[in-house]
Amino acid sequence: MSSDRFPVELAPGINLQRVIVDFQWQVYDPERRLTLDPNFWALSLAGEAGEVANWHKKHWRDRAEGRGEEFSPSLDELRSELGDVMICLALLAEAHGIDLTEATLDKLREIDRRIAQGRQGVGRKGTANSSGRR
Ligand SMILES: [Mg+2]
Repeated sequence: MSSDRFPVELAPGINLQRVIVDFQWQVYDPERRLTLDPNFWALSLAGEAGEVANWHKKHWRDRAEGRGEEFSPSLDELRSELGDVMICLALLAEAHGIDLTEATLDKLREIDRRIAQGRQGVGRKGTANSSGRR
């Protein structure tokens, strides 16, 4: 079941996961030296997510301490780190044979069903998530 709020299918077009994987194999690592093991990408993803968190920590700290924006990391730096996260996420999904677009759409449909049923924030086992919402 889906609601009218959420598109069930995407129009054909660019598949970002495919673009990233093709780049990785054809341009960046044509001999597939390091990157066949999903553990490499899981750990890389955690590292890049840490860099995103660190950007926010520095930005938050600098504002809290009244420092000027010129000392804080730039939005361009965050943009770059988010790009790293996307690359690692796409390659981790690929290493497990998961279509990230389909996985994401399935999750959005699941969330949409919960909202339509008035069960926002309820996990698969029927328990409230860490936010405590039901
Ligand atoms: Mg990075």
